[in-house]
Amino acid sequence: MALPRLVPRSTVEAASTTALRHEVRAFLAEQIAAGAFTPAVDAWLTGWDEDFTAALAARGWLGMTVPFEYGGHGRSFLERFAVTEELLAAGAPVAAHWIADRQIVPSLLKYGTEAQKTHFLPRIVRGECFFAIGMSEPDSGSDLASVRTRAERVDGGWTLTGTKVWTSGAHLAHAFIALVRTAPVDPAHRHAGLSQFIVDLRGPGVDIRPIVSMNGAHHFNEVILDGAFVPDEMVFGEIGEGWRQVTSELSFERSGPERFLSTFVLLAACAEPTAPPAVSRSAELGRLVARVAGLHQMSSAVAGALERGEPADVPAAVVKVLGTTTEGDVAEFAHLAGDDVAPQAFRETSGAAMDQRPGFTLRGGTNEVLRGVIARGLGIR
Ligand SMILES: Cc1cc2nc3c(=O)[nH]c(=O)nc-3n(C[C@H](O)[C@H](O)[C@H](O)COP(=O)(O)OP(=O)(O)OC[C@H]3O[C@@H](n4cnc5c(N)ncnc54)[C@H](O)[C@@H]3O)c2cc1C
Repeated sequence: MALPRLVPRSTVEAASTTALRHEVRAFLAEQIAAGAFTPAVDAWLTGWDEDFTAALAARGWLGMTVPFEYGGHGRSFLERFAVTEELLAAGAPVAAHWIADRQIVPSLLKYGTEAQKTHFLPRIVRGECFFAIGMSEPDSGSDLASVRTRAERVDGGWTLTGTKVWTSGAHLAHAFIALVRTAPVDPAHRHAGLSQFIVDLRGPGVDIRPIVSMNGAHHFNEVILDGAFVPDEMVFGEIGEGWRQVTSELSFERSGPERFLSTFVLLAACAEPTAPPAVSRSAELGRLVARVAGLHQMSSAVAGALERGEPADVPAAVVKVLGTTTEGDVAEFAHLAGDDVAPQAFRETSGAAMDQRPGFTLRGGTNEVLRGVIARGLGIR
């Protein structure tokens, strides 16, 4: 029996897309020179900068794949891929719009009502509407079918009650899409009875409490929904179809360049001619560069598959397992390479990368769970 492909057929970048890359690079160099941002690790999760987001929107680099009729730019996934890859490689602060641009756009286009598309998409494109992800709960992470937040039918809508946790950016975002129970668990069909709702994070019945990380940073939150009212117009997709909707969009969440470029600024710094020879000529550095180059090919191949409308959940899981392991290894390599004489900025950045590293292989699905997805895709589980 032939094994299924773990990487979709590769995509050759069009000359126009390469030109776009150079445009983004020039913009980023200008922004760094002007002091608009300092390149940072994991800036797609922690670098919330609404001015920078506005600058990207002004150049047409947000909501690139949104069709013209919703205020978007009608560009391809591959063009979006090139732009996001450049932003990530530069360590640019893209967290404010990241979730909306990465997964809310494709989800809205697939499952949103006309009114939801008309309301949210133009605002996302303009960099004026930010989203968070409302999936995890205190006792429910990998096994999302066990979520206990429930929605009850009331006049004109639903009331949501329960607690979401690890909600990145909820204290700054406008809304999240919450996965909740709309029917009791049926042990024979645990994935049934789940639904999604677009929740206004600034509305009544929503209490957002910070979870401060060990290094003092605040990007996580606990979001307590205490009878939060969601009107019928903000039901997302079909009631009872939440599981299918969530899982069908996972490829967008797992396969992108943010799964291997979170620490790229450190890799680049180690490869600089100005880095100590013991670092810049290390065989381990060469291996890390080769791994990132391979991941670029794999991740762009998945972007090509998504563009063609092909299912890509297994290849996306492969990118995520290999990519998040690699970006963590880059953090460790740079941390060990940065001795006492390394510049202060380098040591601070590699320290920040080590702080963030445990999350790389957890967020968006843990490596253990994803290996299970890959094994199932290969028919060996
Ligand atoms: C930086 C970061 C940002 C995040 N942002 C968000 C966010 O914005 N919104 C949101 O909803 N969530 C967010 N999360 C939560 C994240 O999605 C969960 O941490 C993740 O899904 C794992 O769930 P858990 O932490 O409950 O661990 P658990 O599911 O309890 O897993 C614990 C351990 O058991 C292992 N395990 C579990 N099930 C299996 C299995 N079937 N086979 C083998 N091993 C298994 C896991 O691999 C893990 O090692 C974020 C997490 C991090 C680290």
